[in-house]
Amino acid sequence: MDYYSSQITKLIEELSKLPGVGAKSAQRLAFHIISRPVEEVQRLSDAIIDARKNVRYCKECFTLTDEELCPICRNPARDHSTIMVVENTRDLAAYEKTGKFDGVYHVLHGAISPMLGIGPNDIRLKELMKRLQGDVKEVIIATNSSLEGETTAMYISKLIKPSGIKVSRIASGVPVGGDLEYIDEVTLLRALEGRVEL
Ligand code: ZN
Repeated sequence: MDYYSSQITKLIEELSKLPGVGAKSAQRLAFHIISRPVEEVQRLSDAIIDARKNVRYCKECFTLTDEELCPICRNPARDHSTIMVVENTRDLAAYEKTGKFDGVYHVLHGAISPMLGIGPNDIRLKELMKRLQGDVKEVIIATNSSLEGETTAMYISKLIKPSGIKVSRIASGVPVGGDLEYIDEVTLLRALEGRVEL
């Protein structure tokens, strides 16, 4: 790409490192950015830096937030005795969009995968177990229906069962291997309402 000035080449290179952005899209984005007013590009750049610097994990549910506790954990109107366990913040967002779940969440940041060498200690499982020492009535496991998601669900349910806390799994209306974030709200709601006790 020597036919561009080195600064453009650098911008294209950095953009093409983003997930889902190929060489062509990176070029398109770079030229778009260059064509915009400097102030507008500054806002984009500030937003990226601010988010990276200030966003951290909620100390209760481990979702991404810019305060100590996320808005869901801070909300007294939410049912703090019902915890939905999800693999990542995007899955949490998918359930929040349905607007029908009034409990709280726990974000694992991954799933157990013996094949990839990801074990129980590599996800936020200890933190979940610690939360269960409080007043918790039900844990709804909403990990994906992939092999990893199912393995994680089984593992968690075995871990929690002895405590006597109700453990349920979202219904298998969610397609196998399905990424929760791409599933429509109706399917998500059906999966939640049709959850079965483990
Ligand atoms: Zn939280």
